[in-house]
Amino acid sequence: MRLASKLNNLPPYLMAEAKKRIAAQKAKGVDVIDLGMGNPDLPTPDFIVEALQRSADDPANHGYPNYYGIPALRQGFAHLYARRFNVCLDPEKEVVPLIGSKEGLVHLTNVICDPGDIVLVPDPGYPVYRIAAILAGADVYPVPLLEENSYLPDLDAIPTWVVKRSRLLWLNYPNNPTAAVANTSFFARVVDFAQANGIVVAHDNAYADVAFDGYVPPSFFEVPGARDVGVEFYSLSKTYNMAGWRVGAVLGNAEVVQAVARVKTNVDSGIFTPVQHASVAALEGDQSWVAERNRVYQRRRDQVIAALRSAGISAGVPKASLYVWGSVTGHGTSLDFCLRLLEKTGVWLTPGSGFGEHGEGYFRLSLAAPDDRLDEAVRRLAEFKA
Ligand code: PLP
Repeated sequence: MRLASKLNNLPPYLMAEAKKRIAAQKAKGVDVIDLGMGNPDLPTPDFIVEALQRSADDPANHGYPNYYGIPALRQGFAHLYARRFNVCLDPEKEVVPLIGSKEGLVHLTNVICDPGDIVLVPDPGYPVYRIAAILAGADVYPVPLLEENSYLPDLDAIPTWVVKRSRLLWLNYPNNPTAAVANTSFFARVVDFAQANGIVVAHDNAYADVAFDGYVPPSFFEVPGARDVGVEFYSLSKTYNMAGWRVGAVLGNAEVVQAVARVKTNVDSGIFTPVQHASVAALEGDQSWVAERNRVYQRRRDQVIAALRSAGISAGVPKASLYVWGSVTGHGTSLDFCLRLLEKTGVWLTPGSGFGEHGEGYFRLSLAAPDDRLDEAVRRLAEFKA
């Protein structure tokens, strides 16, 4: 069978590859603790699950859903943006719910790029930005996120010929995998860059509400002019412990948001209505538990940082996101380090190189593991001698 040639350029999806390695260790009887994935381990709160159950009991909700998202869900996202970021969005034109933000990242790239256009992709970065560009037939220009620049892209360092061919710039703060954060003055520089060069900005705000020590991550739209140049992705996966429910949204620039909606109405048929009702409950209901949940992640973060220090491994202390980004300096490549750690302790971390060339030299540790497993991982890490 001849498959499309662009599939040859597709790297194996990072987590799929990791799963194979972990399975091999488990098959040998090793008690593996997987700290590789950012999959929230804590349950979705009962009031959200109950909203799903109530809605699922009504046969009227069993048919094809509203393709554009029920008005209450679009309104729910608009309320979130007003409450959280003081940003006023038109729920009719500037909000479209997604079956998880991941699908939207792929649609957006198709909506913006023609084959041969360049997509500016953070390196290291969430692998889907790159994969979406490849599927759209666009070219990828990896924009280095370097520790010395606090993992922010140096936009002035992108060659002029690249900027001229670029159509789309991806940003993601709080960042996966580095856990770096960005402030509104950085976003203001991005708006100037995008306006000067006719580039669409896509800010992936998946970790907007997983933050510690009182830090409050901003929205890209808190900066004047941002909605003229871009869109933002919000996800219920991490904020509301709803990763499996598959709900997110693309918000902002009406022309781009509506173009994504046009593609979606042709390739999917929306989110199951009871899931939409439950998402409305999440967005409009009690929010106080989110801060409590963040205190759980913060306690885990502190435990992990202490354990890494006793093992002589240096790592940044994240203000937000689900991740600790640490250095493997002195321990070979990031893959060597992670495989050695897996072999000696049964703890799996993600090698930084899986997120791009500039992720080499680092590992990513996810805090989204049950307390007892994380306690055990921390015990093993503290004793690890590379
Ligand atoms: N964006 C980033 C940066 C992520 O890390 C993830 C998931 O890990 C996603 C998007 C996907 O989110 P969703 O579950 O809404 O598809």
